[in-house]
Amino acid sequence: MRTAIWQGDRVAIVEDIPAHVCADCGEQYYDSPVSDALRRLAEEGFPSRLAKATITVPVFSLRERVAPKTELPEDVYVD
Ligand SMILES: [Zn+2]
Repeated sequence: MRTAIWQGDRVAIVEDIPAHVCADCGEQYYDSPVSDALRRLAEEGFPSRLAKATITVPVFSLRERVAPKTELPEDVYVD
């Protein structure tokens, strides 16, 4: 399988992860050598020189697509 792992504002994609998939609930889980290898790669900080490929991903914002919450004024008294 493939997963994306964030470190700060950097994201790395890891492919070819051997995973088991539970036949009952579909949950994926890794053997400990696999999770160890993933953890070591993360601890190394996903060095760019080890990457087998680099991709460009588009980044989107919902700022213009979601109406801003209008804050209701507090403690406003009307005579
Ligand atoms: Zn299960």
